Amino acid sequence: MTQTTSPARSNRPVRTRIAPSPTGFPHVGTAYIALFNLAFAKAHGGEFILRIEDTDQARSTESSEQMILDALRWVGLDWSEGPDVGGPHAPYRQSERADIYKEHAQILLDLDHAFRCFCTAEELDAMRSAQMANGESPRYDGRYANLTRAESDQMASDGKPFVIRMRVPSDGVCQVEDMLRGTVEIPWEQVDMQVLLKTDGLPTYHLANVVDDHLMEISHVMRGEEWLNSAPKHQLLYEYFGWEMPVLCHMPLLRNPDKSKLSKRKNPTSITYYRDAGVLPEALLNYLGRMGYSMPNDEEKFTLDEMITSFDIQRVSLGGPIFDIEKLNWLNSEWLRALTSEELKNKILDWANNSDKLTAMAAAIQPRIELLSDAINWGGFYFQNLPEITAKDFTHKTLTAEQIMEILQLTLWQLEALPKWSEDNIYAIVKGMSAALDIKMRDFIAPFFIAIAGSSSSTPVMNSMWIIGADMTMTRLRHAIDVLGGLGKKKLKKLEKTAAALPDLLAREENG
Ligand code: GLU
Repeated sequence: MTQTTSPARSNRPVRTRIAPSPTGFPHVGTAYIALFNLAFAKAHGGEFILRIEDTDQARSTESSEQMILDALRWVGLDWSEGPDVGGPHAPYRQSERADIYKEHAQILLDLDHAFRCFCTAEELDAMRSAQMANGESPRYDGRYANLTRAESDQMASDGKPFVIRMRVPSDGVCQVEDMLRGTVEIPWEQVDMQVLLKTDGLPTYHLANVVDDHLMEISHVMRGEEWLNSAPKHQLLYEYFGWEMPVLCHMPLLRNPDKSKLSKRKNPTSITYYRDAGVLPEALLNYLGRMGYSMPNDEEKFTLDEMITSFDIQRVSLGGPIFDIEKLNWLNSEWLRALTSEELKNKILDWANNSDKLTAMAAAIQPRIELLSDAINWGGFYFQNLPEITAKDFTHKTLTAEQIMEILQLTLWQLEALPKWSEDNIYAIVKGMSAALDIKMRDFIAPFFIAIAGSSSSTPVMNSMWIIGADMTMTRLRHAIDVLGGLGKKKLKKLEKTAAALPDLLAREENG
């Protein structure tokens, strides 16, 4: 990929969007991209809208959508059109727009910009294996691209399942304009004949995204740089349809302090974690506003309105911004110090007034308390960030510190991979791990009490993990491993092998 500079412009009214896929917890990266879309739109007197991209039916959930909407609102980002507020381009949820995508796939088929592909899963697997055996990178080889329309129609009416793929040039270079990167060149040979409509008649991200951005009159598409390689396909789709393409702007990805892509394996990534740890929404937004961006006067503490007033997208720098929790906490402390005591009191009350969490905590401590004031001792850890613990707290009659770290790490990896954070799933993992490692549940669970609640006499620990949430649980387990001295690279490598040999601990639950 090569790049030269020449920012693209559009004369259309500015309309930007955030288009989250509801497949997990609300990610700080979503709030980051939403913030820049909103700031850009508002700075140009435009609109910022929200669309739910739930074309991945297997992974999308209603609860994830709700969490994402709640988290974006909590952090202070507001949209003028969306699935919850409606608007002139409704519906704003892609699962409710299936007919629109079908019609558009048909248009491309009729214009011969797309073709039906009748490959079976086995055929595709065999194609990939043969390509890999030849040292080629796997890609669709175009085997159904040259059927005549009559042949293709015949096979379709015979009931043979098919997907619709777009045609792409096989050679030459695609030039894409990006507001921050100038002209980006991507060779067409790197671009696959993308599936646009799946066998079930539902669209892939690429078709749905382009059709919706056009119909929803989006003027500027600002999204994470992981989508840059999709830009040639999208540009080609705009050309095929004869539509004006929105201006593209690919934002740098947030990174862990070790420069790797921000991931929940190393850092909490869910907005709910930061809310629960006691970060103010204003401070989180302020911190996200400093990711790869600087204010004209280099100020560190600023509000959303201040950011909008002086907003200039060209001040985004492309070096991967580091999301560093310690810096975020420092900035949060600046926000806290600037409050009056009265304001701070209200912030504390608002933060603690998390009804679902309080009800779950009340249920857990009810059998154990005599006085309401006991709730502070029994329930304090639910609200903490990291418990105050030392290596000594983990002392166990049979398990060594080394074994404890291994137990915690292996379980942590399993929990990280959970598709759904439910008490049943947590239980299946912990119970399954204790059986797989052949350690009695009583012994196995002991270090988790210390890591999560900071004490061996506490409310049931798997229930506690569920209540405090996935990211908070993982942060505390990682902290416990650090407190115990940490696992070196060599030991982690060895443990990865043990992890790979573990049975699927959820399989029984899911099938049962
Ligand atoms: N649904 C995509 C995502 O989750 C949106 C990408 C885009 O903005 O085009 O990131």
